[in-house]
Amino acid sequence: MKKLMVAGMAALAAVPLMAGLYGDTPDDKHAWAVHDTNRPNPAKVEPGANPGDAPSDAIVLFDGTEKSFKDNWGDSNGNPTRWKFVNGTMESARGAGNICSKRQFGDCQLHVEWQAPVKVEGFGQGRGNSGVFVLGGMYEVQVLDSFETNPADMKNPNYADGQAGAVYGQNPPLVNPTRRPGEWQSYDIVFHQPVFEDGKCVHPGSLTVFLNGVLVQDHWEIEGPTWHCRRTRQERPGSTRGSIQFQDHGNPVHFRNVWVRELPSRYANTTHGTFLASEKDVAALRGETAAKLFAKVDRSKLDSSKTVQALLEVVSYSKDEKYLSALKSSCGAYKARIEKMDDAELERNKNGVNDVWRALDVLIRNKVLEKDAPFCKFIRGVREKKGWK
Ligand code: MG
Repeated sequence: MKKLMVAGMAALAAVPLMAGLYGDTPDDKHAWAVHDTNRPNPAKVEPGANPGDAPSDAIVLFDGTEKSFKDNWGDSNGNPTRWKFVNGTMESARGAGNICSKRQFGDCQLHVEWQAPVKVEGFGQGRGNSGVFVLGGMYEVQVLDSFETNPADMKNPNYADGQAGAVYGQNPPLVNPTRRPGEWQSYDIVFHQPVFEDGKCVHPGSLTVFLNGVLVQDHWEIEGPTWHCRRTRQERPGSTRGSIQFQDHGNPVHFRNVWVRELPSRYANTTHGTFLASEKDVAALRGETAAKLFAKVDRSKLDSSKTVQALLEVVSYSKDEKYLSALKSSCGAYKARIEKMDDAELERNKNGVNDVWRALDVLIRNKVLEKDAPFCKFIRGVREKKGWK
């Protein structure tokens, strides 16, 4: 209880400090400060009413209507599919080949629900086999009736890297949360494609999969295209977009409620330079923000505490000579004004001096400014003399 109160009080105390220099500054890897109010807020998305419902920014590929079946799906040549539209579901038809979304996707979040046949027939890879493929058939998350499955069970022998939730032939699911055949099961898949630079694979791509809400693939780094019996590698760059596909493996598996959200590549994230050579993007974004903030600074009032603070904030993004020189002039003008104040006037300017100090303190803490820079020493001295803590 005590801890909660302390946390709550800290949050309340933080409210008036939200604008300007506040949290740790941008650096080589971060384009934004901690709690940066200049950082754009993420786009608003309306979530679905119930778990599994499409959010407002999803592309719905199948909503249970025949129209969405015909409009959005075809065979691998773009011709009408021979899969069947049955009772608001898409049913795999033996010999029809994979059903393919007409629209192409790269990195994405994919939701799909599937149902292994109620009538249990066959065993192992022949029992309710289908699959969810991303990037035009390159990578398969296995669909199979794996409700009762065991490599040692002679009635339904199977291999772990081929059961439901497996990245086929590469990695078994972490656990087996499959429901009985005939019950609907859900996949929520996050796919990031491999990244190539100068023809070489610098990141293999990944699959994260929830099966019936249970994590079964935890950011699995894809070894190569999924294949029967063979290990593969990410050898050369291919198409960066491809269809979503469901496999025809000869068993009448049903699908429903299919939607996709396109995702940006994690490796082209310009607001955080953890990956690849994106530090140059971080620097560019910091420069852009500095220029925007600098354009808003009222340079007709160089001797005001607000101008000093605004320029300190600019310098936290970029130490471009132009900004440093404006900051130097502003600090000089502000210092001269403070020095001329009598005690009563200085008291009236207490908040301004303290605000400037708080901004300086953030920059000193982050080694943007030297602790003993003349202006820092001056402001510290004023506060010490007045006993302002
Ligand atoms: Mg399959």
